[in-house]
This record gives sequence, structure tokens and C-alpha cells, in this order.
Amino acid sequence: MTSQRNAFPHRRYNPLRGDWVLVSPHRTQRPWQGETGKTEAAAPVHYDPKCYLCPGNERVGGHRNPDYTSVFAFNNDYAALLPDAPAPEASASPLLRAEQDRGICKVLCFHPDHSLTLARMTVAEIETVVEAWTAQYVELSAQPFVQHVQIFENRGAMMGASNPHPHCQIWATEHVPDEPAAERVNLKLWREGHSRGMLADYVALEVEQQERIVCQNDGFVAVVPYWAVWPFETLVLAREPLRELPQFSAAQRRALADILSQLTIRYDNLFQTSFPYTMGFHQGPGPEEHFHAHFYPPLLRSATVKKFMVGFEMLGMPQRDILPEDAAARLREVPSTHYLGSRS
Ligand SMILES: [Zn+2]
Ligand SMILES: [Zn+2]
Repeated sequence: MTSQRNAFPHRRYNPLRGDWVLVSPHRTQRPWQGETGKTEAAAPVHYDPKCYLCPGNERVGGHRNPDYTSVFAFNNDYAALLPDAPAPEASASPLLRAEQDRGICKVLCFHPDHSLTLARMTVAEIETVVEAWTAQYVELSAQPFVQHVQIFENRGAMMGASNPHPHCQIWATEHVPDEPAAERVNLKLWREGHSRGMLADYVALEVEQQERIVCQNDGFVAVVPYWAVWPFETLVLAREPLRELPQFSAAQRRALADILSQLTIRYDNLFQTSFPYTMGFHQGPGPEEHFHAHFYPPLLRSATVKKFMVGFEMLGMPQRDILPEDAAARLREVPSTHYLGSRS
């Protein structure tokens, strides 16, 4: 139960990032006269001759996709990073600092069917995707200059996804990017101070309190974290202190596929729409690591009203209206089967 004290503005600490979020639950009462956006219609076709990710189609530069029948990975034709990018010119001023940043960008199609999303795929189909993530992670981590492999999915036009075909991106970089680097600092400090893992402690606390759990299985727990910034943000945590995908047993890969299925079905059911989000995994080989996934969905109160990170949030700090405990309760209350029924 949400205590009355939580109904007043307060701020909450994010121990992973080491920063704060302003929580203003009373603001959900205010009238909305801003943008209402458009509902995203589900992609109706199983094959789109114009889609550069569908099997058999041509991509830029004369590449042609094979007639793949499950997953398919290839080097991004518009890569943001290059494996042979040279070092930039040195600058005389410390104010104008640049560094070499080599990398590899790949695209992984989850399924040949253009109309699907994780929420509409079977657990067995998602399991195949988990196996492909693992193989890509192993292959890219083995490159001599690679320090970090970031797997992420941008889902839906509201998140700027350029193509509805079910796919993710995998960027392997020469430097650890800012988000995982910031988390690593705090995870290390916690381990030094407590002789235990921060996220292992956090899983135990959430399982004990039950207040912010959305769904769970033998291997994973999905929660709206205490310090969530986005209205329906979730954190998917391994129950065991697993560091990275290559450590997973077959049962743990299946459990990850299952929790991703459970969570994305609940997301779609919340506003009866193909729920947009950015999601991705944080993992690594270090003793401080604890495998987890972040889901950052933009929707606030309906299929069309999204949260904007503007004003005080750009100049001050992030702020949220709906309490994380209430967001978790709403995601728990929706049905566990997809509102469109089962696929035939
Ligand atoms: Zn397609
Ligand atoms: Zn993280």
C-alpha cells in the first residue's frame, strides 16, 4: 500500500546512477491540454517488399538478405562506429578534447515475420533471440579493441525506430559508454562497502516488499524500480548474481526469454497498443557486474500521451508524476495474455 506520505513531493535516490529523481504524485490530477500524438497501428503485413530487414530483400550497397527463417545478423549499413576509424587530430586546448573511438555496429532481426514484436513472439522464438544475443556478445567481446558490447532495441515510431520489423542493434565500442560506466563506479563502491552486490541486495529487497514487482519467474524479477524516471520504466534483474550472457545455462536463457515475453505482453495490454520503448542489457565480466535489462517506455497516460523530458528536467533533474508503486500495480493488474489473442 502506498503510504500517504508518498503522496507528497519528494526525491528518490538512484544508487545505480548516483543521481536523484523528483517524485510529484499529486501532479497526475492536472488537466492535459498538450500533444495527444497518434496511436501506432500494428504493422499488418507479414512481408513488406520495401522493408530492408525482410528475408530476401535488397539493402543499400547491393547487399541482399538471405531467405532467413529464424534470426539474422548483419553489419549495419549505416554504422555509427567504424572498426578502422583513425584517431582525430590533436588539439592544443584542453577544452577541445577528442579521442579515437573504434567500434562495430550490427543489426539482429528477431524473426522473418515483419508484423511481429517480442510481445507477439512465443517464448521459444525469443529463446532463439537470446541465443543469438549470446553468440553476438561472445564474438564481439573477443575483438581486441572492444571494451563494451551494448545490445539494445528501439521499439516503435515514438522512439524514433525507423522500421517496425522486429530487430535490435548491437554496438561494440572501444570505450565503456557513460551509462554502464557510471553504474560500474557505483556497483564497485557498493561491493567495497557492503561485501555484497548492490543488485543482489536490491532483488532480495524487492522480493521481500512485493510492492514494485510486475512479474517474475525462477530466473528473473521485473520491477518498476524505486527510483524510476519514466512512468512505466522497468528493471529486469537476474535472481542469481549472473554477470553476462555467456554464463547463462539453457534454463536461464529460457527464463530470460520468458520474462521478456511476460513483460512486453503486459506493456501492450496496459494501453492496448504496440507499446513503444527503448530496452537494453547491462552486463560485463567484472566481479561487480549483475546482468540486468532496462526498459524505458515514453508513454504516460494513454496510447497517445507521452512523457516529455523538458523544462526542469533538462535544466534541473528528472521528475515523475505517477508513483513507481502505482505504476507497478497497474502493470500487475492487466491480463497476462496478449489483448490480441494468441497467434495462429
Ligand atoms: Zn520487414
Ligand atoms: Zn544498468
